[in-house]
Order: sequence, then C-alpha cells, then structure tokens
Amino acid sequence: MNFVSTRSDNAADLAEALQRGIAPDGGLYLPEHLPSFSVDDFDQADTVQEVATVLLRPFFAGSSLSSDLAAIVAETYSFPVPHTLLPVEVGKAALLELFHGPTSAFKDVGAGFLAACLCRLRRSGDRTLTILVATSGDTGGAVAAAFDGREGIRVAVLFPEGRVSDRQAQQLSGWSDNVLSLSVRGSFDDCQAMVKAAMGDEDLRRRYRFSSANSINVGRLLPQCTYYAHSSLQWFRQTGRKPGYIVPTGNLGNALACLLARAMGLPIGEVILATNENRIISDFLDGQEWLPRDSIATLASAMDVGNPSNMERVRKLFGEADALSGQFHASPVSDTEIERQIRLNFREWGITTCPHTATATHVYRALDATRRTDSDWILVATAHAAKFEQIVEPLIERSVPVPPALAAILSRPGRAVSIESGLRSLAAALAEGFAS
Ligand SMILES: *Cc1c(COP(=O)(O)O)cnc(C)c1O
Repeated sequence: MNFVSTRSDNAADLAEALQRGIAPDGGLYLPEHLPSFSVDDFDQADTVQEVATVLLRPFFAGSSLSSDLAAIVAETYSFPVPHTLLPVEVGKAALLELFHGPTSAFKDVGAGFLAACLCRLRRSGDRTLTILVATSGDTGGAVAAAFDGREGIRVAVLFPEGRVSDRQAQQLSGWSDNVLSLSVRGSFDDCQAMVKAAMGDEDLRRRYRFSSANSINVGRLLPQCTYYAHSSLQWFRQTGRKPGYIVPTGNLGNALACLLARAMGLPIGEVILATNENRIISDFLDGQEWLPRDSIATLASAMDVGNPSNMERVRKLFGEADALSGQFHASPVSDTEIERQIRLNFREWGITTCPHTATATHVYRALDATRRTDSDWILVATAHAAKFEQIVEPLIERSVPVPPALAAILSRPGRAVSIESGLRSLAAALAEGFAS
C-alpha cells in the first residue's frame, strides 16, 4: 500500500513514509485507501497481537517489512492492554488501560512499533540514523525507551528545563549512550523550533542522517488503531453490542486512531473526545474558524496543544465541521473538574486516575442517564497516575504505588545535558554527545 500526503498527490511506500515522518510538501501521510473489515475477519484473532497483525496486514502489503509484521507486533506488545469493568450504577462501562508499557503511557505502543520498524529497515552499511524529538513530557520518554540500546540508531530528546514533572524528567534521561537527553533552557516551542531548524540545516544534514519520531509519523498512528480493534472486538463478542469510546485528546493522534478503527469496520459506536481547557477542537465543531492558538497550561499537560496537527488528517478523511460533528463530539474539561474527578474516581470507583484520564471520566459522568444506558462505554486511560503523583497524591490523600517498569527507570541515574535554546547550542551538543 502507498501513503499519500494530505497536501498533494505526493506518495510514498510504507518504508519511506516511516523514515520521512512528514511528506516533502509538509503534509502528513495517510494510507491511499482504508481497508474494510468485518468482525468475522478476526475470527482467528484473539490476543491483541493477533488482532493487530490482521488489522495492519493491508498497510504492509508490498512492503519489505511485510514478512516481519507479526514479529514487529510482538515486540510492540510486550505488555498487556486490559479493559477493566467500572462499578457504575447505570449502564455498563470499562476503563481501557493503555499504561502498562515501559513508560506507563499509551505512547509506548506507537513509539515501540516505530522503533521495531525502523530497526528492521536498516541495511548494513547505512549511516547511523539520528532521531530528533522535542517533547513536553511523555513522547520523549516513550521514544527514548523504544530506541534505548538499539544498534545503528541514536536519539536526541529535547525538553524544556523545569517544565516537566520530576518523574518525566527522569524518564527522559536515564538511558543508554545512544540516547542524548537535552534539557533546554527555554519552552517546548523553543525545543520544537530547534528540531525543525536542525532538520532543515544543510551543514548538519551533511553530518547526520536525521529522522523524526514525533506523533505525526504514520508509524505511531497505525499501531494505535490496534487497541481499539482488540477491545471493541472483545466487547462485541461478549455482549453483542458496539461500545462507545471516550478518548482524552490533545494532538488528536490517539482519537484519530479510534476513528480510523471504526471507519475500517470495527464494532465501535459513538466517539467522544475529552479535551482540557485548550478548546480549539470543540470550538471548531461549534462552527468557529480553525485558528491555531497558543496552548494554555493545564493539569492534563500532555494534552496542552493549541494547534493539533492531526486535524489536517481528520479534515482530509472526514470533511469540515458540519460533516465532523456527525462523526464525533468534543467536550472541554476544566482543571477544577479534573481535580474533582480524580477524587471521585478514587472514592466512588476505587481507581486512581491520571489528570488526562480524569477528563474522560468527567465526560462519562456528564452524559445523561439515557445515553449511559443506551450504550456501553469504554473510557480510555492514557497514563498511569504514578507519573503525575504530585497532582494525584494530595487529592486522594495517599501515595500511588509505582509500577515496576516505571520504578526501574526511576532508579537509574539521569544524565541530562543542560543547553541554551537555539540551533548553535543544539549543534554543539550533538557533536559532543555523539562524538564516538
Ligand atoms: C500524549 C498524551 C495524550 C494526548 O494524546 P494525543 O494523541 O496527542 O491526543 C493524552 N494523555 C497522555 C497521558 C498523553 O501522554
């Protein structure tokens, strides 16, 4: 299958699309057509790995990676993605736990899959691939974990000094020699600008073979469809009903994966996006113009996005505001409500939720009783609460146990290099950090 830019007819095969990340015209890659499935197509597929292999096979058709698909999927899903029933009073609802991977957030699925693909695309004699990634928190950790210790690939992670949680900072810096952790004295936007500038710099491009692992890479989007496919199939087989999904969203990556899974024929009902106070998506659905804004800092910081880049894909696939409001709804959630939900989730349901997941539980609780009983709902839990313990622990008045994978990372010594903002200091840090 080929992948086509959202901005022109520019097409690439899977390997090229994965390695480029973004199309040469600045657009985002989309599959040239969406395969169509029925529930029966998954009759032989039970585990998340088996479902993922069936779902992703058409996208790998004709690619040099096609014979590796099952192995890539097995490497990606070295951890479970359970959905656990919630003890709600009316209707039926479950929490889809996407936080059992190495860095305790759903981004482990996309980052792990991309790493598994890129490693297999390396040929002997290839120059070392240098992956640059700017992060406001979770992406950098997941990418660092996925590429840690990989042969022939190195990663430079740029994050804004003092603006990520202590545990996130540790997750960004406790890795092997092929991961260079750069703590930038500036904002997330500065980090992003430095990555862009480096990738466009002639001199640096002669010295390094750059690639990017940010969330617009199709290699991160496609695998995210698989946990929606798996959980909806399991639900449908057990109940005969299509569950609706409530997805916490910032850049629309995880939510778009849910919409794609439904468009490919998976048994998914209504889709509702839960956002924080960055309201660009809900304002757009309400008829306002699509105007990128500065992001607002909220408790659900991994969703602080003022210009969700995946909207370009959503509009290309599903149309403009009128058409989109028939496809999904979006509901903004305030910080006050996030705090209230973290307390309520603990008190009423006995579960500890991160601030991002709390936006989804708010949207669920705000549904009227009919909508709750007319449909089953799966609420997406995007990260483990232990990553955001400074917010969660005071609210529930107890400590959050740290999952073993996260504890292992937190116990390693961190080695971040603090640098000034700007291309020159990035170039110097790369020369020094990757000297060998
Ligand atoms: C990245 C992230 C999100 C937002 O995901 P998008 O794909 O950008 O919408 C939500 N929650 C957590 C914990 C995240 O790390």
